Amino acid sequence: MPARVLDGAAVAAQIREEMVPRVAAFTARAGRPPGLGIVLVGENAASEIYVGGKVKSAAGAGLRVDLERLPATASIDELLALVDRLNRSRAHDGILVQSPLPDGMGAEGERRVFDAIDPSKDVDGFHPINVGRLVQNRASLVACTPSGIVELLERSRIPIAGVRAVVIGRSDIVGKPMALLLLHRHATVTICHSRTPNLPAVAREADLLVAAIGRAAFVAPEFVKPGATVVDVGINRLADRAQVEGIFGAGSKRLQDFERRGSVVAGDVHPAVADVAGALTPVPGGVGPLTVAMLLKNTLRAAEDRLG
Ligand code: NAP
Repeated sequence: MPARVLDGAAVAAQIREEMVPRVAAFTARAGRPPGLGIVLVGENAASEIYVGGKVKSAAGAGLRVDLERLPATASIDELLALVDRLNRSRAHDGILVQSPLPDGMGAEGERRVFDAIDPSKDVDGFHPINVGRLVQNRASLVACTPSGIVELLERSRIPIAGVRAVVIGRSDIVGKPMALLLLHRHATVTICHSRTPNLPAVAREADLLVAAIGRAAFVAPEFVKPGATVVDVGINRLADRAQVEGIFGAGSKRLQDFERRGSVVAGDVHPAVADVAGALTPVPGGVGPLTVAMLLKNTLRAAEDRLG
């Protein structure tokens, strides 16, 4: 029997719907809507798409949203000055600096910029203070993708307490916070990465498997215990016809989409996993919409906390 599809887009719409009265109440009390400042540096095509989606959703939810652009040639100091202005702004409750920053700024530069964001406005949940609070299970602003996954699981009545969970990926933005959120909900959690031996066998122990790897169709059926819940975080753009046909098959809708558009998106989980898993998030339409919904929810939460 094919896996139950966990509809992230529907849950994201529900989360946005639930925000409507809270946004109205905040706006009435504060005399202004909750405000989000998004900073985009340079011209990364994928970032343009992500940021466009965030701006549209935020505006649709009744938030004030300001997109602040800097050229790829901007210095770290210019970017830090912009973050400082948003930190001091009374109209902005949330600040998001879109990653990745231009190569010239380096990994250390990205860290300096994220560290400079006022933790009470850190709606991405990347600031060390917010990460520390998450470790201690007293966080208010948590990274959007893993917290969206928890919303999806809980609202879909997928058990977390007591289950064996395996998270493949240990990034600061997905894998690590995901593992902590599941741990705090009483799952027994294993975190895997590129140096994990016997990965398929470890993954196969999971009742709940989260794939946050960044490699198209990497998680094959042999990674999955029959009946397990599989959450596919990966967003991989495929521009090679043979690869699309190899993963999705000759007569597949995805291959037809590829013929029309020249590229398609694939998750980290192979489509054949649908025949083994009990429940599965689709790509697209699974985790992606939840990430944006949680950004809006975090902004509202930050606004309410600032208002007191
Ligand atoms: P990342 O920082 O590149 O981390 C990838 C992780 O996967 C690393 O921990 C890496 O291990 C591990 N990995 C790579 N190759 C592996 C292998 N062969 N076997 C086992 N583990 C392996 O990526 P990320 O930022 O976490 O993102 C992961 C994916 O999720 C990407 O496709 C990204 O586009 C997507 N994403 C989606 C959303 C959404 O809203 N849906 C949000 C964020 C990210 P090492 O640590 O050992 O290198």
